Order: sequence, then structure tokens, then C-alpha cells
Amino acid sequence: MVIDLIGAVAGGLGWHFSSTPQPRHWVLFGLFLAAALGYTRLTKVAEGRRRADRLDRKRVEHIDLTSIWFGAAALVLPTTLALVLVVIVRAHRYRIARKPPGIWISTTATIVLAVVGVGAVRDLIDPATWLVDGAARDLATTGKVTAVVVAAGVVYFAAEAIPIGIYRGIRFCGPARSWTLYKTLGSRKDNLLEARTLLIAGVNAAAVVFLPPGLGLVLALGLAVRETRSIARDIAKQAEIEHLRAELAKATARAETDHLTGLYNRRGFEELADAALKVDHAAGHTSVLLMLDIDRFKWWNSEIGHDGGDKVLVAVADVLRKQTRNGDVVGRWGGEEDLVLLPDTTEREGREIANRIRVAVSQLRTQVRMPVGGKIEYLGSAAEQHEDGRKRGDLPKCTVSIGVAVAPAHGMTTTLEQLRQEADRALFVAKDAGRDRVVAYSELVKTPVPIHEPQDHTIVPNDAATLH
Ligand code: GH3
Ligand code: MG
Ligand code: MG
Repeated sequence: MVIDLIGAVAGGLGWHFSSTPQPRHWVLFGLFLAAALGYTRLTKVAEGRRRADRLDRKRVEHIDLTSIWFGAAALVLPTTLALVLVVIVRAHRYRIARKPPGIWISTTATIVLAVVGVGAVRDLIDPATWLVDGAARDLATTGKVTAVVVAAGVVYFAAEAIPIGIYRGIRFCGPARSWTLYKTLGSRKDNLLEARTLLIAGVNAAAVVFLPPGLGLVLALGLAVRETRSIARDIAKQAEIEHLRAELAKATARAETDHLTGLYNRRGFEELADAALKVDHAAGHTSVLLMLDIDRFKWWNSEIGHDGGDKVLVAVADVLRKQTRNGDVVGRWGGEEDLVLLPDTTEREGREIANRIRVAVSQLRTQVRMPVGGKIEYLGSAAEQHEDGRKRGDLPKCTVSIGVAVAPAHGMTTTLEQLRQEADRALFVAKDAGRDRVVAYSELVKTPVPIHEPQDHTIVPNDAATLH
């Protein structure tokens, strides 16, 4: 209510003190009206989507992109004509905007306040720059033009932001008493959008003033429509990412885990990793998949027994949990093979993480009871020595080989299954090259891998030739 009143008073004052429109101003007014109405028509779909997105999130405040025109008109027209423009365009918009009338009136009041403010600032600094025919095209006035545009931008921004801030402040101060400065100021994104709108308004106003009026407005209209559509696209993208994040959260809540290691089982991993990949894809981030296989695990099982082997599996799973972030998806793919999906990670980071995991596993000193004789031993004890040079125990270090693959590679979308196959190929090469190492799939593509004679224990997949 207060805002509406302030708007009405400002409108009256602006009207009263405004200079009389010259014929040139009527021409400009006609062009602005045509451009603003044309803009409303051309951006109807984009703006409708943006508004619907706002309503979906139960947010009523809406940054009005018509500021593009009002800001510019306020600069180059006498305040009376700028106000008439506001009233006509707002009335036209009311028919298509899904907004309650009270909010529509308040928004209009803040626009009136902003338009009158811009006119007053312009007249204070130098009315001739904008209102007298041809004066603005004189380059000597460039400094003043810049001063007026900057000052007008600040005034318009403040006139729109302060009343909305107060309104929000009152709303959040109500019974819930959850006032915060952040809520009052609005989100960074909203304010940036408002600033971007005003920047376009400044450019539009300059185009109208410096170019022949018809050409200036056609260019301004093109710019405004392009910007509005790009803003709508950004918002649609953001909504899609949020939707995919929600799906990921749901999948996380229901994903099944593996009894032995506590990692996600194959099904749980697939569902979560797939959802995380989709979020990254929509957000334009890269994701990395690590495929890990314990080296010579059959030997370990025969040496320390199946129970000892299980202890090693749990110890490796603990390493994976410790070395990864919240949000990374760690799963047991089967047997002694684990998968780790690292969202929003570059290949370089992925390789570093893989290497960290590899080193941490080799440093494991897990205690196991030997199946024959029941003696207690520690992983890696054979590598450690007593002071007199005797080795401490008989067990070697446990090592892992890791294959690394990144999505999207070469800008192509990658499915989880494709990514897994790439990591698997890299893992195979790591085994073939001697184990206890990290190999990235991109290395296989870049440098040819020499063919080794298959050793007794190595199973060569049929498609090994395609690695080269
Ligand atoms: P490589 O270095 O080439 O990976 O050799 P490897 O011996 O690890 O080869 P492979 O992957 O063929 O062997 C996996 C072994 O893991 C076979 C299986 O007996 C054992 N294994 C699978 N699941 C479990 C489990 O739940 N517990 C234990 N203790 N062993 C398992
Ligand atoms: Mg294996
Ligand atoms: Mg193995």
C-alpha cells in the first residue's frame, strides 16, 4: 500500500515538473511503444516460461524485463510521455501476466518511481544531453552521457530494489519472524538479472539517441528479444538441473548397499551414478569414473583364506570412503572390483584421486589370521624390517590397479555403460603393464599400447586388438 502511494505521488510530481514534449519526442514515443509492444509479443513464450518457473517455486516477486524499455524511455523522453508509455505497456502486460492485481499495481508503482527518478536525475545533470534534438550526438557530451546513464542505472535499480526489499522485509518479519538480510536483498542471481536488464536498457537508450531513431529502435528490439530468450533458456536449464538433482536425492535415499563392504551394490551404484552423470551433463560439468580391481586377489584368497580376503575387501572399501568426497558414488561392482563415480571432476583431478587411492591401499596394514597355523599377520609386513634387518612378516603389500575414464570425452555425451567399458579397458592395460598403477582411457587413445604376449594368468579379451 505504502509503495503504491509513493508511486502515485512520484508519478504526480514527475508529471508536474516534466518538460513539454517536442514533435521529435512524439515520434520517439511512437517508436518506443511499437518496440515495447513488439517485444512483449515476441517474448511471450519465453517470459511465460520464466513466470511459470517462478510460480512453481512459489515466488511471487518477478523481475520485470520490460525495464529494458522503461529505463531507456525514461532517459530519452520527457517524463510525461515515459509515464504514458508505462501505463499503456503495463496495461497490455496485465492481460498476459499471471499475477494478482495487488502485486501488479505495486510493481507498476515501483516502475513509476524508477522512471520519475531517472528523469529527475537526467534533468539535474543536464537535460540538453537527452532532450534537445541532436545535442547527444555531439561527442563533446560523451562524459555527460555516461554520467547520466550510470546515475540513471543506479536510480532505477534502487527505485526497484528498495521497495521490493522493504516489502520482503515486512513479509519475512511477520508472525514467522524469520527476517534475514539475504531474504530482504533478494538472491544474487535476481540482482544480477536486474543489473543485466538495466545494462540492456542503457545500451538501448544509447542506440536510440546516437543512431537515427528508427534504426536505433530496431537494433534495440533485436538485442532485447535475444537477451530475453537467452535469459529464459538459462532459467529452463537451471530448472532442469534442479529437477535432476532432486531425482539424484531420491535415488540416494533408496539405493541398496552391499552387505560385506557397505558400498552401494551394482544396482544401487548404477542408478545413482546414472543420475549424477545426468546432473553433470545438464550443468556442463565433466565426470570421472574409476574402475578398481585388487591385484592377484586369487592369490590373496589362497594365502590368507576367504575370511582374510573378505577383510581386505572391507579395508579397500574403507579407503575408498575415506579418499572420496560427499556426493561421489562408490559401489561394489562384483568380486574384488569397485567403481567410483566422481561428479564435477576433471580427468586430471580424477587421476590424482585414483593415485591417492592406489597409494593408500598399498599402505594398508590390515591384520589377518593365517588359515594355516592361525598366526596373526599384517598386510605389507614383508616390506617392513626389524632394526636388525630381518623382515617383520611374510605378507606383501596389497595393491590395486585403476582404470580412469572421463565424460563427456570430445564433447560427446557418454552413458554410464560406455564410461564403464572405457574404464575397464584402461584397467586391463594397467594390469597388463604390471599392476599397481593408474591408467586413463585417454592415454590408450593417444599412444599406441604395445601388444604383450599373454601370460599364463592373463585373460585377453577378444577386443584387445581395438586398443591399438
Ligand atoms: P588380477 O591381478 O589380474 O586382478 O588377478 P586376480 O587374482 O585378482 O584375478 P581375478 O579378478 O580373476 O580374481 C578375482 C577373485 O576374487 C576371484 C574370486 O575368488 C575372488 N572373490 C570374488 N568375490 C569375493 C568375495 O566376496 N570374497 C573373497 N574373499 N574373494 C572373492
Ligand atoms: Mg577382477
Ligand atoms: Mg583382481
